Amino acid sequence: MTPGPTLLKACNKCGGLSWTGTFASTNTFGAKFWPDGKIDAPMQPDEHWLVLCGHCNQPIWVDETEEIDGYWSYKRLSYVGYRRYMGVDKEWNERGQNRLRPRSIDDFDNNYDSEAYEYFNGNMSCDQEANYDEKRRIAYSIYVVNLKAKYPNTQEYKSTTVADLQDTLNQNSLSLKKEVYIRLRLMRLYNDVNRDNPEPQPAFETQYANWIQLIKCLSEEGTSARQRIPNDFLVAEIYREMGRFTEAVETLNKWTFEKRGEGYERELIRKNRLVKLCDNQDARVMAIAE
Ligand SMILES: [Zn+2]
Repeated sequence: MTPGPTLLKACNKCGGLSWTGTFASTNTFGAKFWPDGKIDAPMQPDEHWLVLCGHCNQPIWVDETEEIDGYWSYKRLSYVGYRRYMGVDKEWNERGQNRLRPRSIDDFDNNYDSEAYEYFNGNMSCDQEANYDEKRRIAYSIYVVNLKAKYPNTQEYKSTTVADLQDTLNQNSLSLKKEVYIRLRLMRLYNDVNRDNPEPQPAFETQYANWIQLIKCLSEEGTSARQRIPNDFLVAEIYREMGRFTEAVETLNKWTFEKRGEGYERELIRKNRLVKLCDNQDARVMAIAE
């Protein structure tokens, strides 16, 4: 797992500030999968698109919030700070080597920056390359502490509940992608009561209605964004959970070799597992190993 920048975002409803972590890349090593697409993976944290603002408690789409500031985690200069603190070292550059050195203090615009600058300048000249990583890490941690101190009134995002998701569905005219995102989150939240339960409870009316609408949405063109599994698998899974095993297998069989993308082998294994569950008339939401 590679962390991306931690971003400071402003709520587009109340302006309140929240720090939010991002991931440059993730993997599913050691993961537990369920056939509804829920994944419990230590190296793939659940990144939420729709969250509750910690200030106003309203549901907000994270990509619609304004980015105010940001930093990368330790051992890397922030993408802001890197450009601020370091410039090309002219002497080394003339010798054909591309080295960086701290820029002049005049380039810095506030006290927080200058404290980190002083540390850099005192500790990171080009002839002091020993312990470079450690110096950079310490200097950078000063930068991050000061950056966070600049924004004292931040609140963490909270997870949306079934009620929040239903409200968002009812109140807004949503794009198809957003509707699919919400309905998939709902499907997985409804499934949580029956997840890994050998004797599941019957579906509620709202759960059933959500399944039917989700099948319609997933059958539209171009709705697969942000999903880790093919639409056909998700539609088949809904049929399977509804106990409509014949339709589930028919849908799975629509997924063909021609449609394969990355991870084809893994998807083929998953398809065969789903077909086997259907053959056994098993509608339970039990984890399937990768
Ligand atoms: Zn807010």
